[in-house]
Amino acid sequence: MTDIATRTPPTEVLFPEGTLHAKARVQRVEHDADGRLLLVTDRTPFHPLDHTWPDQPADRGTVVFGGTRHTVIDAVTGAVGPGAVGPGAEELLTGGDIPVRRGDPDWSFVVVHVLDRPEDGTAPPAVGQEVDLAVDGEHRAGLSAGHSACHLVSLALNERTADLWSKKPPRLDCLGNPDFDQTAIAESRILPYGSVDRYRLGKSLRKAGFAAAVLAERLAELQDAVNGQVAAWIAAGGAARIDREESHLSARRWWTCDLPSGRARIPCGGTHVASTADLGSVTVTLDLSPGELTVRTRVAP
Ligand SMILES: [Zn+2]
Repeated sequence: MTDIATRTPPTEVLFPEGTLHAKARVQRVEHDADGRLLLVTDRTPFHPLDHTWPDQPADRGTVVFGGTRHTVIDAVTGAVGPGAVGPGAEELLTGGDIPVRRGDPDWSFVVVHVLDRPEDGTAPPAVGQEVDLAVDGEHRAGLSAGHSACHLVSLALNERTADLWSKKPPRLDCLGNPDFDQTAIAESRILPYGSVDRYRLGKSLRKAGFAAAVLAERLAELQDAVNGQVAAWIAAGGAARIDREESHLSARRWWTCDLPSGRARIPCGGTHVASTADLGSVTVTLDLSPGELTVRTRVAP
């Protein structure tokens, strides 16, 4: 049994609405092994790196306390779990040290703002103190554009590889096409105004009925088709937003986007542009190496 009353509550996150600035109350202050300050607040506009699917990098920005502006050098996912020796002994774990998946009901998931030890000797803020959090809007805009483009490219890739499945595909995407993306994805990395996605074209995909050899023959044609499809969706100017069940960090969220062929809806913990029109022009490059397809996406807003 967990005693919820003694637990650090989960962080209310403001980034799904595109918020960049907020005042918040400090809930936990700790130092890591390198002496850096770990700051947990009741709410935050900062998007942290996810610990299980680290696709979108952390926001950058600042926090003001003690009359001084401090740089937030990183924002990571933290979790406060059942204490080893009972309530009150809960430890804050971060990143890869978290032993459970996001959303585990026995754990509180929090955004941990990482700060260098203040050089000017400013004391860390006290629990309960109000601080001022501000995200670097330019960096965020680049990551949002990169992430939205990445989703559009994955849907275009699914649509344009639909005829390469000889059997009933294991899953369909939100537009009803065979879901090559979610069946084969190995790693997705969002960059400012871009992304790099790696897909495994191994035995299990071939066994599932995907003609990887035909994909290799038609690579240039497929690249043109994906670029054309994404350009058409950008020209159509579909509105996009994040739907969410609740406002805390580990609540389920979905990117939803109106496309000419229907409403796209993809589970997603990241940030996005408000319209496909904001992406300007997107260029996709496909590269094959043995057993792997790499998809590089660049956005020129
Ligand atoms: Zn996403």
